[in-house]
Amino acid sequence: MCRKDFGKLLKIVAIVPLIFGIVCIFLETGNIEYNKSYGGDAYTGIQNASAEAANNIRILNKNIKYIAEFFFFTTSTILGSIGRYLETAETQNKKENSNEETKIESNENENLEEKSEAVSHDTNEIIYSCPQCGEQVKKGIPTCPKCSQEFIWN
Ligand SMILES: [Zn+2]
Repeated sequence: MCRKDFGKLLKIVAIVPLIFGIVCIFLETGNIEYNKSYGGDAYTGIQNASAEAANNIRILNKNIKYIAEFFFFTTSTILGSIGRYLETAETQNKKENSNEETKIESNENENLEEKSEAVSHDTNEIIYSCPQCGEQVKKGIPTCPKCSQEFIWN
């Protein structure tokens, strides 16, 4: 499987935690039990205690819910980003390759110029024109002083 396909797969897989996250939002965490007072003090105490316990569990559920939502959305975002990165990285590699091809072509042009210029200039200091900008450059310099195009001299 190539990287681009893997990136696409990751993007599709990223939808799953997203759905879980959305489901989590609509998930009920139980109703609030209010403290009620009854006639007898002892009974009121018991009711209040159980209501408090129920509320604590509810709060706990809500926290878990938030953590789960956060987890699912984060996972989805990370998977989606990695998928996108892999897809883009593949495209950039292709671009770099085509750039290198252009470089090789321009080097071939330089070689051609070298032959023609060498014939026309009958001096030790041979001048070439930069294939990028046309600037006159001496043989052996690493980069063009005008456009900083790199030269490869044979
Ligand atoms: Zn140049």
